[in-house]
Amino acid sequence: MLVIGAGGAGMRAAIEASAAGAHVDVVCKSLLGKAHTVMAEGGIAAALGNVDPEDSWQAHFQDTMRGGQLINNWRMAELHARESPDRVYELETYGAIFDRTPDGRILQRAFGAHTYRRLCHVGDRTGLEMIRSLQDRIVQLGIEVHMEVTLTRLLKDGDRVVGAFGYNRIDGRFVAFRSKAVIIATGGWGRIYKVTSNSWEGTGDGVAMGFDAGAEVLDPEMVQFHPTGMVWPPGVRGILVTEAVRGEGGYLTNREGKRFMLEYDPKKKELSSRDVVARAIYKEVEAGRGTEHGGANLDVRHLGAEKIKKKLPSMYEQFLKLADIDITKDPMEIAPTIHYAMGGLRVEAETGATTLAGLYAAGEAAAGLHGANRLGGNSLSDLLVFGRRAGAAAGAYVREVGLGKIDERQVAGEQQILLLPLSADGRENTYLLQQQLQQAMQDGAGLAREEKSLKSCLDRILELRQRSARVHVPGSRKYNPGWHTARDLRFMLTIAEAIVRAAIERRESRGAHWRLDYLEKDPALGRVNFVAYNEGGHVKLKTRPVPEMPPELAKLFAETGPTSTASPPPAASPPKAQQVRR
Ligand SMILES: Cc1cc2nc3c(=O)[nH]c(=O)nc-3n(C[C@H](O)[C@H](O)[C@H](O)COP(=O)(O)OP(=O)(O)OC[C@H]3O[C@@H](n4cnc5c(N)ncnc54)[C@H](O)[C@@H]3O)c2cc1C
Repeated sequence: MLVIGAGGAGMRAAIEASAAGAHVDVVCKSLLGKAHTVMAEGGIAAALGNVDPEDSWQAHFQDTMRGGQLINNWRMAELHARESPDRVYELETYGAIFDRTPDGRILQRAFGAHTYRRLCHVGDRTGLEMIRSLQDRIVQLGIEVHMEVTLTRLLKDGDRVVGAFGYNRIDGRFVAFRSKAVIIATGGWGRIYKVTSNSWEGTGDGVAMGFDAGAEVLDPEMVQFHPTGMVWPPGVRGILVTEAVRGEGGYLTNREGKRFMLEYDPKKKELSSRDVVARAIYKEVEAGRGTEHGGANLDVRHLGAEKIKKKLPSMYEQFLKLADIDITKDPMEIAPTIHYAMGGLRVEAETGATTLAGLYAAGEAAAGLHGANRLGGNSLSDLLVFGRRAGAAAGAYVREVGLGKIDERQVAGEQQILLLPLSADGRENTYLLQQQLQQAMQDGAGLAREEKSLKSCLDRILELRQRSARVHVPGSRKYNPGWHTARDLRFMLTIAEAIVRAAIERRESRGAHWRLDYLEKDPALGRVNFVAYNEGGHVKLKTRPVPEMPPELAKLFAETGPTSTASPPPAASPPKAQQVRR
């Protein structure tokens, strides 16, 4: 079996499949132990009830569904809430050591829109501990990991996925895998935008590969803007400032020193859901109350230097090293940054099976759990719960099927796509096109969107797609980042088109999708998910009904009132954005 991706989802899937007796190969673009999972800071959400004994899987389920504005797959949210505690305890058996309560249990911290203190953490370096433990397990089990290999095409035998093809990043050699099943665990696509917390690896490869092969992409329009990314100096713009800063008691203030979240969400304040806080910052800036570089201040000075250095050591170092700011003495300047893709491959809740036989997906590359907005901490638990499930299901599948046939024409077709930029006498520069795409997405499909901006963004994407066929990259296949970028660009253009087409059609505001020309929710659109699919190489769109919750779960929402996490804007001078109406 082949697992593409060695973040938390890929590694957890590989462990489970290997335990089920499958021979597993894991492939990753960078080195084992890197990926976005290692960058995770704040924690893993799981209703252990160690700090707040009232917590329960039902409360976690409700928070997740409310955060997702009820377009989530309820079954995924249920499995996630029920199984996260076991997955966290299991991680301890792999060697993870979490921060502790005075009586020795796993300590849990508050996070945005979680009703109870629920995030198991290791200071602000939780992802490092998680990846270290999973990596140790992978090594113990003798699972083979192929590092610095980029896969670019799924290979099919009829309708079934039977392998994948790509290249070795170091010497450019082509690589092919023949396998009974493939699990996509390639993470998200933040790099499609200009300002992002994601690393160079986040170009949406796995989802685009699945799309090219005929799998469906669910909720592409739902792109999360984390409220707090660094803004200054320009070279660090977008780098994440973890929500743990607010979880530990940090305040957001505007240029006038006012704690504005008291007005936007008087109950949850800074710990409102990410979509609400990101919009609040945007509105403050639009209303002329932003900080010097177009953001807000995030202040922890009142917590005291000792607590800051103990609970937020990475943030202390990050600001000192990158911005020359001592956060025990000065506030951090922050602004929203593109952070997470709620959209991804459409999968079955129980198994992670996509709509293509032999193809599974887990982690950020899969969609459904988070709906219109992910709650902080729910990704790391997602990786463990659904990585395990995809690994188990794919492990069972490979026991039932034989190896498929590799179609040499598919391999030759992909080789041709890969080699074109080296041989073509085109004039287009791949880096320039990538930058233009990132700028177009930032401007047209960003935090605040409207029909006009989205349509001109779509035109730009289609134009860039044409120009991308004329890219020329100097040099050879030997470690050549320009050549790698040329292939990434094709993935990015596909995903960008899916995002924008779905964003145009969702004529309402819901969760992370904020339409300035449709400020309200449309109840009819609350009953559907948008799905992008491949028809003859073109991105097409359809809707699917949101899966209906069984009465015993639906009751949880009826009992506790409305589902909206949004809050009204402050009364003071209405921001420009709000004056644009339908
Ligand atoms: C700075 C930061 C802080 C975060 N903090 C938190 C937090 O505190 N709590 C939380 O729940 N979430 C957090 N998140 C989100 C969370 O870390 C990610 O959503 C999650 O780690 C994604 O895991 P994954 O396994 O799906 O993918 P990733 O960890 O992104 O791994 C993807 C893997 O796929 C490989 N890959 C990609 N494309 C290819 C290809 N074409 N061929 C071969 N291999 C490929 C990559 O090399 C990599 O190994 C944070 C994210 C960031 C960026």
